[in-house]
Amino acid sequence: MPCELCGREAKGCKEAIIDGAKMYVCPDCIKYAEGGVGVQQEEPVSRRSAGSTPVSRPPTYRPRPAVQKDIYKSMVKELVSNWNHLIEAARKKKGLTREELGFKIGERTVTIAKLENGDLRPSDQMITKLEKELGIALLEEIKETPTVQQTQSQTKYTLGDFIKPDK
Ligand SMILES: [Zn+2]
Repeated sequence: MPCELCGREAKGCKEAIIDGAKMYVCPDCIKYAEGGVGVQQEEPVSRRSAGSTPVSRPPTYRPRPAVQKDIYKSMVKELVSNWNHLIEAARKKKGLTREELGFKIGERTVTIAKLENGDLRPSDQMITKLEKELGIALLEEIKETPTVQQTQSQTKYTLGDFIKPDK
């Protein structure tokens, strides 16, 4: 059988992978094969010059799915600035005393008082219970132009974090 690479009739032809294709090649041509079959004496450089090595890519690059950004966006929620007034107003609208509201959401009266005075920030758990019990929204989505400075810097930092890997 002739060598499929140089066409010469040669003895000892072997199966080898050349440029991704399976070929029968003579001992002379087997040095072009990938995987180094019988080419222990060959340097990797000569194999690369044969065109078998793919163009190297930055190993860390990976396109980020757009979905990830959307999930993140929905997570950017902050306690509204007037949450204490909202809680108090909603409670009074419902005709509940602080004690009654506290009983409904499993918090002490003094905790409700602290919440309404703005001395205590409600925990995530409390927020959920208050929103459900009072029918109010204590969380607001952060827009591109927030009024709170701290929130602005946080948002910008995280968005930049998403953009960086694409550079
Ligand atoms: Zn050959």
